[in-house]
Parts: sequence; structure tokens; C-alpha cells
Amino acid sequence: MDDTAKYEGFNFLPLLASDRNQGRIIHVTHQIPFEISHDIKEDERLHWSFASRHGHAAMYAGMHSLIDEWETICIGWSGRIYENSDSCSEDVTRQEVDVSSLTTEEKASIRRQLEQEHNCIPLFLDNESIDGHYYGYCKTLLWPLFNYIVWNDATDGRIEQKQWNYYEAVNQKYADLVVEEYQTGDVIWIHDYHLLLVPNMVRAKLPKARIGLFVHSPFPSSELFRCLPKRQEILKGMLAANLVGFQTYANSRHFISTSTRVLGYESSPDGVEYEGHFCHVGTFPIGIDADAVDSLRKSSDVVPNIKAIAEMYSDKKILVARDKLDLVQGVLQKLAAFEKFLIDYPQWQNKVVLIQVTSSDNVKNEHKVAEMVAHINGTYGSLEFTPVHHYHHQIHADEYYALLSSADAALITAVRDGMNTTCLEYVMCQQEKHGSLIVSELTGTAGSMGSALLVNPWDYSGVAKTIHDALTMSEEEKLTRHIQLLAHVRSNTTTFWAHSFIKMLLHTCLLSEQSKNTPKLKLDYLEDQYNSSKKRLLCFDYDGTLTPITKTPMAAIPPKNMLEYLEQLCNDPRNEVWVISGRDETALTNWLGHIENLGLSAEHGSFMRYPKSEKWINLTQDLDMAWKNDVVEIFNYYTERTTGSFVEHKRCALTWHYRLADPEYGPFQAKECKNHLEQAVLSKLPVEVLVGKKNLEVRPACVNKGEIVNKLIASSPTPFDFIMCCGDDKTDEDMFKVLKKADIYEHQKFSVMVGSEDQQTQALWHLPTVSDVIESLKVMSTSSY
Ligand SMILES: [Mg+2]
Repeated sequence: MDDTAKYEGFNFLPLLASDRNQGRIIHVTHQIPFEISHDIKEDERLHWSFASRHGHAAMYAGMHSLIDEWETICIGWSGRIYENSDSCSEDVTRQEVDVSSLTTEEKASIRRQLEQEHNCIPLFLDNESIDGHYYGYCKTLLWPLFNYIVWNDATDGRIEQKQWNYYEAVNQKYADLVVEEYQTGDVIWIHDYHLLLVPNMVRAKLPKARIGLFVHSPFPSSELFRCLPKRQEILKGMLAANLVGFQTYANSRHFISTSTRVLGYESSPDGVEYEGHFCHVGTFPIGIDADAVDSLRKSSDVVPNIKAIAEMYSDKKILVARDKLDLVQGVLQKLAAFEKFLIDYPQWQNKVVLIQVTSSDNVKNEHKVAEMVAHINGTYGSLEFTPVHHYHHQIHADEYYALLSSADAALITAVRDGMNTTCLEYVMCQQEKHGSLIVSELTGTAGSMGSALLVNPWDYSGVAKTIHDALTMSEEEKLTRHIQLLAHVRSNTTTFWAHSFIKMLLHTCLLSEQSKNTPKLKLDYLEDQYNSSKKRLLCFDYDGTLTPITKTPMAAIPPKNMLEYLEQLCNDPRNEVWVISGRDETALTNWLGHIENLGLSAEHGSFMRYPKSEKWINLTQDLDMAWKNDVVEIFNYYTERTTGSFVEHKRCALTWHYRLADPEYGPFQAKECKNHLEQAVLSKLPVEVLVGKKNLEVRPACVNKGEIVNKLIASSPTPFDFIMCCGDDKTDEDMFKVLKKADIYEHQKFSVMVGSEDQQTQALWHLPTVSDVIESLKVMSTSSY
């Protein structure tokens, strides 16, 4: 499916029309889109000029495109601040201003002017913070990792810890500024890997804020991401957003699976669920401002340059490229492939020129590239002809667009790249020549540019052959490919990108607001009802309700404070307290058997042990258990094929656990197994399959937790005027169903699902986590009445 079709739907979503003029969009970017400077001629540093910042053009253009419909503000680091001196000479010299030398008044004047002229709010950072955050944690840890470069010098961790402290502190500064500026109804859009902790930091102060995060860089697979010492903190920081966007589908997938593998959170292709919050994940490939590029390339400054280049290389074919000289842009691979091209296709020697523009601050790479260029030019060049022209500096936009317009092919061989905008600009510039686009299949751009010639940058002969193919391609084929590429570039613009992201963000916020049909149980309300009742029934599930889910079932030891509160509740003569669990009698006796007044039910209602008794009553002894043979055969089949899974034999149930299996393969196998059971067993035997948390259970259909609640309600000599049933998985829904039908007032029913509010349930209330349940026990057990 092409990307246009994928997002078209959003144009028809009934978006919160009334919100359009209400809220603002608060962009949070690493740097504000303007460079701040000041003329030294002025007496005081109170008048500042702002020039558009170089780089990140696509992002800034996208952000800017939203002003048609929204009021927007931008929060970001002020960036380096300069002082221009024109000491009567022609050259204006610039000097960096030490931010710590700025007075409070000067900072205020910068902020005031920026706010008035550009709706920007600058964050001033001292040099240590910039070094630790940007040059430290961002550039030496996150950036390499996100681009698949694993650091080869592991240290004792002190430097990372120090840089991490700066990363955290600087993120907190951004978050504080956002919170300070926030007004109800605002939408917060945080950009890129410099600010991954900001969503959670903002969420901590503004629980209901609508927060989006877009990661412009790639996101690595979980295998690599888990190498990061602070992987959990980073992931949790990101997951607090309502929507996390990536450039490519692969990056989204990596993020979702990393959240499952590193944090153990439940996920679906749409996002990740944790502690009552659903974080949507989506793909939004950034484009370029196609109209702006189109008018630039036709401008009077560019056209003469195009002519000049055409004259200079009148009998040559031109290959162009512009890259940063870092480790992932593949310039060395490209030069090697170009040499291979000249060797394999000697007919092109003296007839093809590669014009390579680079920029970087990586000296080591500069040397390597310069050596390689010299080698190629020395071997294949002559006095009159140089095969590789290497320009190592930022070239002027006019020259750049002229180059793109004059080329016969563009050669993009990055070994890893989020989104390469040079490709897109090249397509816009080739509306007359229809030159070929050769793109590395390892870039984010490749996925959406099906009509380009895709290459593996590590396969030099493959790239060489593709260059040859590109230069010998028929005009007809070039035109067909160009038309398709142009249509893509024109429709997937920065405007489209920014609007789709915001639309999706609003849509997801709306969805989660609407689906909040299971309100969170308010403990003071619970306490009021508890206090005003005289006869109460309290039923709790064990795993995932009274104690957190653990990796191995036997590790689910009851928390000490929980036992204390439970015991106190049992000691109140007005209470009847039961733990109704899927566990067997032994486990329940071991953990809870010592609480005298507690009733216990094991194996999802198959066994009961009344308070003050030590005898287990088997409710299923007259049932036929022959079905077990068929089921165990199927369970064994899946156990053999799912490493880490195992079968638990209970007296009247069989459970297949996969919590130790691979977090993605396990659930996949469970679905297969369930289908298999439904077809082979369920249709002919009186049993049912229960989908538990990381397990499947088969048991007799007439036995379940709800039946126990029914029995307790029916057998009570005085009717209950307060019933609470609390549980976390599908087996507990049977209790909720029974309670729903119970013949007492609605306000006396407390069916409580432990989990997120958007989880489907029959329960009337939800509590996000086990600790919230324990807190509710505390409230009831220590209740003053
Ligand atoms: Mg449970």
C-alpha cells in the first residue's frame, strides 16, 4: 500500500472542529528554528536579529505549515548566540557570545523579541549542560546506537552516568518550560531523540495533556537498543506520549517490539499498553516543501548556474550526491562503488563525473574520503579530466539546486538513514531531465520510493551495474519512473506530514478519551460506601490483583503489607473475605492458609475452603475428567514447539503457560493453540478455554469463579449490602458478570478490573495496578468507622 492511500483516510475523520481555534500547538524542538545574533555596533545588547537556522529544513517547514489552522509556539534551546562585528573591513566577523555573560535583562529582551516576532520561547543552557546533553549523551550514545553503531569502548560507566545526568536535567528544563507555557486544550508536539524523556516529565505534571513525540532519527531493533544502560528510562519517557511517530514502518515495529521485550508491556501493531495508558505508534515519513523547492529551482539565481554546469560538462554524464561525512552516510562505500564502476565499465571512463558535496566535523572521515578521491582521480583522471569533484563545505542553495537539476543520476548510498531529503529535492529538480535516482535500500526513503533504483551500498559491483543501467536507461523508462516519484514527492510533503501527525494525535486522544468507559475507582467513594454498609462480601483474585505477575508462578509471594490489610479485613465480623484464584490448593494454603477468617477458592472455582476450616471441598469430583487426555496431547504439541512454555496439571484443569517464552512468539503460539483446541476439543466436550495472562487454561464449563460468587451470595443468611469483586484477567469476568446481575443496589456493587481503562471488561470500575488494589485494601481496613 502506498503511503498516500494509508493516510488519506485521516482527511475525513471528524476531528474536533471546535478545538481548532481553542488550543495551540506547542512545538518542542532541540533548537528553536532561528539563529540569534546581535550587532556589536549597538551600544547595548538589547536588540537582536533572528535568521532562519540551517538544517532540519523539512521539520521546520512542516511545523510552520500548521499556522494556517493553529496558533503555534515553539520551545527550544536558544542555540549558540553570536555577535557580529564589522570592523570597517568587508568581512563581517562573528564571535560567539558566552550565554553565562548575558544578564537577566538581556535574556528577557531576547525572549520578548523572539516571542513577539516568531512565537518562539528560548531555553538558555550553560556550556556544561550543552556538552553533557548534546555533545555527550545525544551524540556519543543515542545517535550512534539509533544508527546501528555499537560503541566499541565500554567503560566503567562513570562518563555515561555523568552524561545521563545532564540528559535528564536538560530534558527536565524543557519539560518545566512546557508546563509553564501550557494552557488547557494545547497540543504538545515533541521532536526527536534529544528530548525522549520530556513526554513522561510533562505527563507527570499534566496527566491529561495531549502529547505527541516524533522521532526523526531511525530506531534500532530491540537486540541493539537493549545495550543501552538506561533503556528502561528512555522507553518509559517515550511511552508517556499519546502518539509516537517514526519515519518508517520498520522503526515503528522496532519500537513496539522493544517495549515488549525490554519492559514486558503488552503491545499490538497499533501501539503499546502500560499501566492504564495506551501509547499509539504510527509511521509518518517526512517529505519536503515541494512548492518551495519548485520555485527555488526555477529562480533567476539558479538558472544561470544550471547553464554553467551544462557547459562545463557538456560531453559528460553527471552523478551527484550530497552527504554528511559521518559513519552512516556511506560516502566511502559510494567512492568504492564508483571506482568499481569505472573498472567494470571502462567505456564510461572520461565520460562520467561524480560531484560529491559533503559536510562534517568528523576529521578522521574527511582524511579517508580525501585519500580515496585522490586515488580515483590519480588512477582514472588526466590533466584535462577529474572523475570525482569533491566539495567539502556547505554549498550555496543556488549551486545545490543547479547541480541537482543538471545531473543525470543521483547516487544516495547511505548505510543507515532516517529520511534522506536530498532524494526528494532531486526528484523535484528533475522535471525536465527525468534523471535516475539510485537509493540505498537501507535508507528510510527507499521504502516509499518504489520507482527509484534500489541498491545495497555494500555490494560494490551491484551499485556499479546500477549506475551503468541508470546511464543507459531509455528515455521512456526514465520518464515513467520520474512521474511516479514526482507524484510521491508532491503528495508526501512536509505539510502533509505535519498535518497527518497532528490529525492522528488528536484522533488517538479522542479515542482514548471516548473509550474511558471504565472509570477509575475513587478510593474515598469506596470508603464512603464501605463505611455505610453492614454486611460485606469481598472477593479477590490472587495473581495480578493482590500480587504482581511474576516470571515463574511460584515466585508470586504475597506482599507483606497486603497480607496485613487482608487480615484486618477478615477480622471485621461484618466482612466475608475470599481469595478466588486459578492457583491450586497447595499454593493458596502456603501463601494465605494462615489467615484464619479468609475463605479460599482454588483452580477457578473448582475447590473451596471456608473460613476457619482447613478442609478443601472438591466441587468437581463427580465430573468426568476424561477430556484431559485429548487436551494434554495438544498442549504437549505446542510445548515442544515453544521454548520456555510448560503445562501445569491441576486436578480439574490443565494450564499451558508461556510467560517464559519469547514475548512475541509465545502469544502467537497461544493463538494457534487456542484455535486448535476450539476445533479439536471444545465442540465435542463439556469444557471451555480460558485465556489468562500469558496462559491458556482448559477446564469444565460449569466451573468458574463466577459460580463461587453466586454460591456465596445465595448461601449468606443475611443479604449483602456491599459486594466487591476484584480481578485482572478474563477468568475474573465471570465474577463481574455475576455481580452485574446480583440483586443489590448499583452503588453497592464494586466490580473492579485491574488494568488499563480501555481494556474491555464487564467491571464497573478499574484500578491501574496491583499497588492501587493494595491501597484500596488499606483504605477499607483502616477505615475509621
Ligand atoms: Mg489474575
